[in-house]
Amino acid sequence: MTKTIAILGATGSVGKQALDVSRKRGYKVDFISAGANERDAELYAREFKPKAVAMANPEAAASLKLKLADTDIKVLSGEEGINEGISDSHSETVVNSILGEAGLLPSLAVIENKKRLALANKESLVIAGDIVMKKANEAGVEIIPVDSEHSAIFQSLRSSKRAEVKRILLTASGGPFFGKTKEELNLVTLEDTLAHPTWKMGRKITVDSATLMNKGFEIVEAAHLFGVSAEKIKVLVHRESILHSAVEYIDNSVIGEFSVPDMRMCVQYAVDYPDRFDSASDELDLVKLGRLTFDEPDTEAFPLLSLAKRAYSQGGGMCAVMNAADEVAVDAFLSGKIKFSDISRTVINTFEKMLDARCAVTLPDIIKSDREARRRASEQIDKISV
Ligand code: MG
Repeated sequence: MTKTIAILGATGSVGKQALDVSRKRGYKVDFISAGANERDAELYAREFKPKAVAMANPEAAASLKLKLADTDIKVLSGEEGINEGISDSHSETVVNSILGEAGLLPSLAVIENKKRLALANKESLVIAGDIVMKKANEAGVEIIPVDSEHSAIFQSLRSSKRAEVKRILLTASGGPFFGKTKEELNLVTLEDTLAHPTWKMGRKITVDSATLMNKGFEIVEAAHLFGVSAEKIKVLVHRESILHSAVEYIDNSVIGEFSVPDMRMCVQYAVDYPDRFDSASDELDLVKLGRLTFDEPDTEAFPLLSLAKRAYSQGGGMCAVMNAADEVAVDAFLSGKIKFSDISRTVINTFEKMLDARCAVTLPDIIKSDREARRRASEQIDKISV
């Protein structure tokens, strides 16, 4: 039977790979959303002929409407447009690959519409994990992670009972600066940062991989998804990105998922779960690889890793604060306003000044903490860059 899916954030890195899986697997794509890239949105709309396309940016929506005037594809605009597209879609699964905080409300809309959520937007869980998981449980909605590590953990957890899990081994490529000291990190450039060793990704997540903030977010994501405490999640640096993560059981058995790094496998697994089919990904040749290596992460050089554990255990709006400050800092770094080492400095300083946000429990309060963190982070960046 042909599966019908919707893809949010279709013009981003994971979104494009989700479209590629749809081509190979023959999924029907009946709704796509994008931010402001109406040029690619038009191409995909003409290729996949969805019922509707939503552009988060209203100007891009207006322009796409003109471009698609010769078709019967509905063009929707803004946050409301994305919600309308989700509720009108006949999809069983929605792939949410929107970047950043903007992906949170769409995740909640998918849950409200009782569709399977194939989640690539880790911020949904980082910012409001308690709320998202609670709503999903109440609605009986499955959240299947698309993030490669979490897909691996999800798959590894199928081999035994949850009560038999001892800990989770979350692997990290280590980023381009693995092995560098705190002092050496003061000298790295934007160009050095964007050269990721194994994964091809968007710019934001590539920077987050270099600071290990991404791994920090993934600790929070895993804690929420799998109901384990952050202390039970051990980060392992694994440069080859072949073991995508593993679960250690109480009898000391370790079950992991190994494959070549290819996000398309994760998207396909999330949509087709519990079934498996042929995929476009390459076969894993272990002999050719010869060996796999594992190291401890350097939490002194990469302090955002420990901050994430702290933020998770403090709870409330603290992870939202950490995420918001990071979004602002990475943006400033990408536009050349601050140095690499200023990213972690900005995030940690913002975090320390906003400890009251741990009392934020409701979504409006969490969003308020997010906005306040953005304001404070920007203020700090202005001081650094003048
Ligand atoms: Mg990942």
